[in-house]
Amino acid sequence: MGFRDRCHRDADAEVTCIACGETVSRSDAREYDKYGDRWDRDGKSFEYLCKPCDGECCHVDRTGLEDRLEAAGAGIASRGEFLRRYHDLAGGERPRTGRR
Ligand SMILES: [Zn+2]
Repeated sequence: MGFRDRCHRDADAEVTCIACGETVSRSDAREYDKYGDRWDRDGKSFEYLCKPCDGECCHVDRTGLEDRLEAAGAGIASRGEFLRRYHDLAGGERPRTGRR
């Protein structure tokens, strides 16, 4: 896919939700900046979340997250060890171990 095609997609104003893969119109999507800084727009491309997924993000309970990270050995244990421990402590979803 060439440069022209990408421009064309922008003009269509459709984006893909990074959480569920749904294609939504850009006006229905929320910008998601993995760096947490939506105001510094220079040279960045944003990722998008659809509204349902954006809503879910906001309702994630972060209570105790810091404690769990510390208990799991964040910054001390090796990555593998940390992920294993964190998984046990969180008692829930499998942590994402990066992309393939
Ligand atoms: Zn979504």
